[in-house]
Amino acid sequence: MRILILGGTAEARELAATLVDAGHEVTSSLAGRVRDPRLPVGIVRIGGFGGLDGLHTWLTAHRVEAVVDATHPYAEQMSSHAVQACSRALVPLVRLERPGWAQHPLASEWTWVDNHDQARAAADRVGRYPFLTTGRQTLEHYLRPWHDRQVLVRIVEPLDEPAPPSWRVIRDRGPYEVGAQTALLREHGVDVLLTKDSGGRYTSAKLEAAAELGVPVVVLRRPAIPREVTAVTSTAAAVAAIVTLSSSATA
Ligand code: NAP
Repeated sequence: MRILILGGTAEARELAATLVDAGHEVTSSLAGRVRDPRLPVGIVRIGGFGGLDGLHTWLTAHRVEAVVDATHPYAEQMSSHAVQACSRALVPLVRLERPGWAQHPLASEWTWVDNHDQARAAADRVGRYPFLTTGRQTLEHYLRPWHDRQVLVRIVEPLDEPAPPSWRVIRDRGPYEVGAQTALLREHGVDVLLTKDSGGRYTSAKLEAAAELGVPVVVLRRPAIPREVTAVTSTAAAVAAIVTLSSSATA
């Protein structure tokens, strides 16, 4: 089968390897945000499709038989385009999303919020020096209201504009260890941690480090997956779902 994986995650790379091994023609698509991305096996294309219409055209031109949206849980626009373009092109779509941290043993101790305004308000209630780990593209929500206060920010790629003088920006990418994360939180003296519900082990060490130091955690809930989309949480389930959906599409 000709399969398009919308990627940019470890799950997407794992799925590409599994599908290529099984003999499928796999193209993985990356947004091109990261300068030195970890590349999946198989064919790789990099850059946006040019919106919803661009993705629809791409699916049709490449005679794609199944799409797996394995983008990060917060890549909302790409996921929304995938739902609409696949529906229009009558191509089966599977959403592969790693489990979140809702089942994490510490989850009930965190403050869960739905958006960045709520995240800021929740952080303001409990702390004065936030550690912001919600991603470079979310910083617009914090730049103005927190312009003059101390903020520790961790990002993967450099900022386009200089950060406010009172912000400390560190660049790093997981995986992280609890010991090093505890040392980082202690070194900077942050007193509240803000994070997305990214799930997985890559970036979860900060959560255990925060618990160890008694630092409160504010977690942004994930965007909902549309009910009509077949959603799975593992590579094996994604492979099974592709087979099932494709056979019912051709029946
Ligand atoms: P987004 O806001 O949902 O997407 C914005 C636009 O970027 C899309 O409309 C599309 O442009 C392009 N795009 C996004 N993902 C793409 C992909 N896999 N292949 C080709 N084009 C893509 O996405 P985002 O939050 O910026 O995330 C971009 C990428 O980084 C995703 O692949 C995601 O898996 C990865 N990532 C995101 C996060 C996060 O926290 N959001 C974290 C880790 C990794 P066109 O409209 O031109 O097609």
